[in-house]
Amino acid sequence: MPDYKLGLDYALEQDRNDSLKHYRSLFHIPKDIQGNDLIYMTGNSLGLQPKQTKAYIDQELTDWAQLGVEGHTEAKNPWLRYHEFLTENMSKIVGAKPIEVVVMNTLTANLHFMMVSFYRPTRTRYKILIESDAFPSDKYAVESQLRHHGYDPKDVLILWQPRDHEELLRYEDLEDILKAQGNEIALILIGGVNYYTGQYFDLNRITELGHAFGCHVGFDCAHGAGNVQLNLHDSGADFAVWCTYKYLNSGPGNLAGCFVHERHAYRKDLIRFTGWWSHNKQTRFNMRQEFDQLPGAEGWQMSNPPILSMAAIKASLDIFNEAGMDKLTEKSKKLTGYFEFLLKQLGETTLRIITPQNPDERGCQLSIQVRNADKSLHEKLTHSGVVSDWREPDVIRCAPVPLYNTFEEVFLLIEKLKHILHA
Ligand SMILES: *Cc1c(COP(=O)(O)O)cnc(C)c1O
Repeated sequence: MPDYKLGLDYALEQDRNDSLKHYRSLFHIPKDIQGNDLIYMTGNSLGLQPKQTKAYIDQELTDWAQLGVEGHTEAKNPWLRYHEFLTENMSKIVGAKPIEVVVMNTLTANLHFMMVSFYRPTRTRYKILIESDAFPSDKYAVESQLRHHGYDPKDVLILWQPRDHEELLRYEDLEDILKAQGNEIALILIGGVNYYTGQYFDLNRITELGHAFGCHVGFDCAHGAGNVQLNLHDSGADFAVWCTYKYLNSGPGNLAGCFVHERHAYRKDLIRFTGWWSHNKQTRFNMRQEFDQLPGAEGWQMSNPPILSMAAIKASLDIFNEAGMDKLTEKSKKLTGYFEFLLKQLGETTLRIITPQNPDERGCQLSIQVRNADKSLHEKLTHSGVVSDWREPDVIRCAPVPLYNTFEEVFLLIEKLKHILHA
């Protein structure tokens, strides 16, 4: 663990020595009414806008204005294969091979489309296992899939739960569930990094375990992509999905990523929903041909992609590619470790960090449980110029992200917290 120190000088020195410090200037930082930078700690919810995003979108608007339909082939970045311009950078971010990754649709939609292929209940194997505090959209999606297949979620949705008076999940408990009913579980779907606690699960371990019992294993990595090194290929997971508007800074509601493991790339037996974009690129425009499945994750696409949205994703991924996940995670661990250090030295019994203490079991987010669920603390923090979020029943989530947050901001955040608690 780095040798953290108290005092503003230490924070300023860390910022001066930070090899990624210039990246902050590539983003628009939201400001208060006096024009001062807010301390933005919600990159886990909506990442900030890269200044170059506008130019990337403008390029496509210009090409559309000047070329009309010819832009499909003649635009600077030809629209027909625009999604391919995102694939390599995205696959590096999530630790996958290009054939395993595609950007398409939105997150919950991708989750459904993955379940079309990887939740194929049989008479003996029909249950789905999720973490008990899964993100609501994931839970609703899974429940609706179960109903779609004629099951009552009450009977067939299995929850991996924390023990009494605990927040984090234990692998022994997952093992116990699988030993008891693994043969009936068709799909294990876990949030790679839990949105509430910030617990980063061991994807390899969960996948190995699930596969040992014959289950398909998928991850929702909305809180992992661009935050931790997911190594999706090596995890062996069957599929993963994630959005691009959280840590990946692509703008509100933008498209999502999808990973399908290489071992499924050429399988034509996997049932899926298809459209003309899942069809062989060479013959796609012959229009009257028999369906010819595209290999890899691309073979799950349906529609021709929204270029303006993808331009914003490209703008952000180009920044990620330049900075590199290695450097970003290195800074992230240091920055979040510093945040944890300062929080602990406050010695406040009002606050308790529920996120794992082990830096390898979390990303940049710390979830801070507030005694007696005193929501006013969060309101005061907001009033003081800190953008964080409150998650019911009693947690403040703060995520200092390595691309644009600084040690000084973390220091100031703690000073504000101290001030509020002692007022
Ligand atoms: C943010 C998030 C979502 C949101 O889904 P959308 O389809 O993009 O609205 C779903 N699941 C998880 C785990 C998330 O973190």
